[in-house]
Amino acid sequence: MQRITNKLLQPVEWQTDARCTEVDPEIFFPERGGSSKAARQVCANCQVRDQCLEYALNNKEQFGIWGGTSERERRRLRKERARRQLRAVS
Ligand code: SF4
Repeated sequence: MQRITNKLLQPVEWQTDARCTEVDPEIFFPERGGSSKAARQVCANCQVRDQCLEYALNNKEQFGIWGGTSERERRRLRKERARRQLRAVS
């Protein structure tokens, strides 16, 4: 159990280069209807943006701005990927 807990708490390698570690994390979790502009600006200049977005998509992150995308945008991206995978199989 301890090994599992430690693994879950260890940051993923790309996170050491994340620009969001340099700013207030609150901007990545705006209130409902609030602006995500500040977070998106940080993400736009982040060198691990692609990895961050993949991580969020793969882990179905439901809250906050990841890789410059909102929850709604990630839901749409996951649906598009699922549709493409279905088309490729059929
Ligand atoms: S792209 Fe991801 S890692 Fe980079 S600043 Fe945005 S939330 Fe942080």
